[in-house]
Amino acid sequence: TARLIDGTAVARAVRADVGRRVAELVAGGGTAPGLATVLIGDDPASEVYVRNKRRLCTEAGMADLHRHLPGDVDQATVAALLDELAADPEVSGILLQLPVPAHLDSEALLSHIPAEKDVDGLSTANAGLLAQGRPGLRPCTPAGVMALLADQDVALSGAEAVVVGRSVLVGRPMAQLLLAADATVTIAHSRTRDLAAVCRRADVLVVAAGIPGLVGADAVKPGATVIDVGIHRTEQGLRGDVDLDAVAAVAGAVTPVPGGVGPMTIAMLLANTLTAATVQQGRPSR
Ligand code: NAD
Repeated sequence: TARLIDGTAVARAVRADVGRRVAELVAGGGTAPGLATVLIGDDPASEVYVRNKRRLCTEAGMADLHRHLPGDVDQATVAALLDELAADPEVSGILLQLPVPAHLDSEALLSHIPAEKDVDGLSTANAGLLAQGRPGLRPCTPAGVMALLADQDVALSGAEAVVVGRSVLVGRPMAQLLLAADATVTIAHSRTRDLAAVCRRADVLVVAAGIPGLVGADAVKPGATVIDVGIHRTEQGLRGDVDLDAVAAVAGAVTPVPGGVGPMTIAMLLANTLTAATVQQGRPSR
C-alpha cells in the first residue's frame, strides 16, 4: 500500500529553515521580515486562519504586523490602509484575508498590494511572472505541493503530471509550477470527459476540485504519487478530494487529509515573506 506523505513534518522542517534564515538575516545586519495580515470583520473561520498565520510568523522570528478592521468598514478606508502598508518599509508582506465582506470589492483592494509584497502570490503581476517562467512570489498552496514533491524526491522532468482543477488559487498556478519543472502537464476540470482515464495517465496527480472523494482507485496509475489539495469538513472529520483508503491500495505515495497539503500552505507563506524581505533589503535570495 501507498506511502503516506507527512505534510505536517515537512511543513515543520520548512518553518524551522525559515526561522534559521530569518536569524541569519538579522545577524547579518538585516531587518526581521514583517507580515501584515489584514482581517476585516469577525468571520470565525477567517479568525482561526489569521491567528495561525500570526502565531507561526512570530515563531519564525518575524514581526507580526496584524491589522483588524470592523466588518462595516468602507472601501476607501481599506484601500488607504493597504497603501499605508505598501509604503511602510517595516512591512515585507501584506496578506488580505479572503473572503472580505460582500460590500467590498476584493479585486480592487488586492490591486493596492504591490507585487513585491504580495506574499499570497495571487496578484496579476505575480501570476504573469509565473506564466513566463520568471522569478516572483508563488501562490502558497501550489508552492507547498512542489515542496512536498521535492521532499519525496519525485522526479518531475518528463513525467506525466495531471492537475484536476483550474482555479486561480490552486489549479492554474499548480500546472505552471509543474510545467516549469519540465513535467508534461494536463489540466482537467469540470468539463473534462472521462476524468478517470485522464488521471490514469499521471505519474503525479494533483487533485484540487473541491469535491469530496472525487478521485478513486480507478483514476490512479499503479505507483503514482497522488497529492490531495481538497479540504472538506464532514461528520467523520476532515476529508479530501481523494478517496484515501481506495487510492492507497494503488498509488505509490499519497497525501492524507488532514496532515498533507494543508500545513504546507502557511509554511510557504512564511517562506514567501522571508523571500520578499530579502529582495526588499537588497540581499541575495535563494
Ligand atoms: P474552486 O472551486 O475555485 O475550483 C475547483 C476546480 O475544480 C474548478 O476549476 C473546476 O473546474 C474543477 N472541478 C470541479 N468539479 C470537477 C469535476 N467533477 N471534475 C474535474 N474537475 C472539477 O476550488 P479551489 O479554490 O481550487 O480549491 C479546491 C479545493 O482545495 C477545495 O476543497 C479547497 O477547500 C481546497 N483548498 C485547500 C487549500 C490548502 O491549504 N490545503 C488551499 C486552497 C484550497
